[in-house]
Amino acid sequence: MANNKPIIFVLGGPGCGKGTQCERIVRDFGFLHLSAGDLLRDEVKRKSELGKKCEQLMKDGKLVPAEVTLSLLSKAMKDANNAKGYLIDGFPRALEQAQAFDKTVGRPNLVIFLECPQDVMEKRLLKRGETSGRSDDNLETIMKRFETFQKESLPVIAFYRKLKAGLVLQQSSVPPPDMVYKEMELIIRKAITPVISTRDAYSQCSLWPGPDCPNILNMDNPI
Ligand code: ADP
Ligand code: AMP
Repeated sequence: MANNKPIIFVLGGPGCGKGTQCERIVRDFGFLHLSAGDLLRDEVKRKSELGKKCEQLMKDGKLVPAEVTLSLLSKAMKDANNAKGYLIDGFPRALEQAQAFDKTVGRPNLVIFLECPQDVMEKRLLKRGETSGRSDDNLETIMKRFETFQKESLPVIAFYRKLKAGLVLQQSSVPPPDMVYKEMELIIRKAITPVISTRDAYSQCSLWPGPDCPNILNMDNPI
């Protein structure tokens, strides 16, 4: 956790429904939603130097450099010091991003992997493209985004699976949005709730040394 605050990553192919599920998680858990794609699109809109560098890569369905997304995210996390937790959507999308985040920010409490067949994602993106105004919601770029996802982003899921058993929650995002969310809600709640506080842990065992014990500091901190 960053500053002891929960971090959840929401990953999956383009158009699988990351943003749609994040809306529901924010509604119920009050976390700060940070979408890597939205942060980048803001830079493009502002015509910042960074935005200019990224615009063409995004139109081509490629990943922008790792340090760009990492620095945008770390800044947004720092700026929102009072957030209850962080819901990070569309990051990490490459192994080097996952490793860099692990080193510089921390480890996620949960990695949600929304699984969706490519033909379903394609239909969703083409439909979204009718109104989204996004330069990458067109068939040619969508195909490139699928390729990038397969090659660069899927290995991230394997990385987190190896890191810790139970860290990855794999969920089909084919059913309607509320049904998808319902399947995940309890697991999310469990992942962000400290299992048991130190005080509770001690009070439940015969070794409870009493409140004056000098060896026990920060009794109310979660373990
Ligand atoms: P992502 O953030 O992964 O790109 P979105 O959440 O924007 O995906 O969803 C892509 C499109 O698919 C949106 O138009 C959204 O309304 C639709 N959508 C998302 N989840 C579902 C679902 N479970 N069933 C049907 N349509 C969905
Ligand atoms: P999204 O809004 O998640 O569909 O992302 C749109 C585009 O932004 C992607 O196709 C990439 O070009 C870029 N992008 C989003 N997230 C990342 C990331 N974590 N790393 C690199 N590029 C990203």
